[in-house]
Amino acid sequence: MVINMAQGYTEEQLQHVIGRVKECGFTPHVTRGAERAIVAAVGSGGSRSALEALQAAAGVDSVVPIAHPFKLVSRQTRGERTRVYVGQVCIGGEEAVVIAGPCSVESREQLFATARAVKASGASMLRGGAYKPRTSPYDFQGLGLEALKLLREVREELDLPAVTEVMSTNDIDLICEHADMLQVGARNMQNYDLLRQLAKCSKPILLKRGPSATVKEWLLAAEYLLAGGNQNVVLCERGIKTFETEMRNTLDLAAVALARELSHLPVLADPSHGTGRRELIAPASRAALAIGADGLIIEVHPCPERALSDGAQSLNLEEFARLMQGLSAPLRPLASSVSGQRVDNAPRMNGHSVYSV
Ligand code: PEP
Ligand code: MN
Repeated sequence: MVINMAQGYTEEQLQHVIGRVKECGFTPHVTRGAERAIVAAVGSGGSRSALEALQAAAGVDSVVPIAHPFKLVSRQTRGERTRVYVGQVCIGGEEAVVIAGPCSVESREQLFATARAVKASGASMLRGGAYKPRTSPYDFQGLGLEALKLLREVREELDLPAVTEVMSTNDIDLICEHADMLQVGARNMQNYDLLRQLAKCSKPILLKRGPSATVKEWLLAAEYLLAGGNQNVVLCERGIKTFETEMRNTLDLAAVALARELSHLPVLADPSHGTGRRELIAPASRAALAIGADGLIIEVHPCPERALSDGAQSLNLEEFARLMQGLSAPLRPLASSVSGQRVDNAPRMNGHSVYSV
């Protein structure tokens, strides 16, 4: 249930509602907006009818059931969109955020060259895997602690916050010491032990959607983090398994819009893993921003053909710079239908407008 406090409620009234929610056997989660407050009553063991009666309490505007199985993640429980701060970088605000860097940290030279270049092109965060979830045990598994140290060095020197993947509960503390944000990879989206532990850590989490997870399962995975105490969660659509074989995954852009519709959390898109094809990364990035993504995470390598992981989907430094320039270019103009007039640069065929004038 969500208890919406009325405009002009008093602190005393709010505290009374919080107390009653506890007495009814639920856990209160309070969100205070500029003018209103919302109390989400979460749990399964309490008395719903007693909660419904809070409709009559002073300072309460309405008591409404939460329509979804995910409660704290639901937009119903927050008046406004969540902004997640990673250092000085705000994810979920007015500006789209671009995170860029190599799939794996491979060496000091590789990481510094990439970080300098992506920063110069306008990226506001660095990515780089230290612990890699590889399909084959014979593939490069990441440099581990050595990579974490390099990430820390580069983020301090370039003032570029870094995100890196955590695969095991054993590594959480170590990664927290070296990185600014922890990524839960697609394969671990439903690793509930990992999610429960990350709920208690102080760093923001980038939660990737599992390759075969529904949007509901993805949001329920985020619910573990919020319910356990970590409010700083950013969702990331990175492509799902479909019957399509020409692309590594199918980037589900509608799910970006849906996740933003159902949840107050910021949502990023990962066109690198989402397509697996470098030539599709720029158009998919533009499409993701057009549909409302709060930002992008993109794989970049100084020499993709030599990359130890995901070279085929990595942009080189110049390609990334071009992509960034393209992101600020205006979208395709819209043909005007007003009294049959065409807009100046509406499409033309054989010298004639494709629209009748
Ligand atoms: C990655 O970011 O390099 C990665 C392995 O991502 P995902 O978990 O989405 O496959
Ligand atoms: Mn990768």
